[in-house]
Amino acid sequence: MASLQLEIVTPDQLLLSKEVDYVGAPGLEGEFGVLPGHIPFISALAIGGLYYKADGKTRFVFVSGGFAEISDDKVTVLAESAEEAENIDFARAEHARKRAEQRLAEKAADLNQGRALASLTRASIRLSLRGRS
Ligand code: ATP
Repeated sequence: MASLQLEIVTPDQLLLSKEVDYVGAPGLEGEFGVLPGHIPFISALAIGGLYYKADGKTRFVFVSGGFAEISDDKVTVLAESAEEAENIDFARAEHARKRAEQRLAEKAADLNQGRALASLTRASIRLSLRGRS
């Protein structure tokens, strides 16, 4: 069966390089799916859960924005940060969510609301991937 090469790259590392059957990615304009033979395509990514199907299993990866490029049966994801669901530190994400919620509730004069909201979104999406490895 034809397959796709999925690569997920962050500023720190090559997180994943794997032959997969399908990729579902959180595009800025909504989720999009990639099967082998997809036309060349570039999309900005939202903060969200990317998933792929390989070896009869579906696996989830947190991605925090960036871009995906699809070309020649290869999906390259350049993400600001990314973690495979089984490697997410949920206690850390819980702390990050509480910290962001507190900042937004306190409304301090120097609050950077956009930054606090983005942090809250990252933490909430990480927490939504609990149990989805
Ligand atoms: P925090 O406030 O806990 O640092 P954050 O959303 O600001 O969270 P990011 O800027 O997205 O963190 O990521 C910084 C680095 O830490 C990246 O390498 C990312 O993969 C890693 N990271 C952040 N949160 C987690 C987590 N809950 N589990 C595993 N790795 C994480």
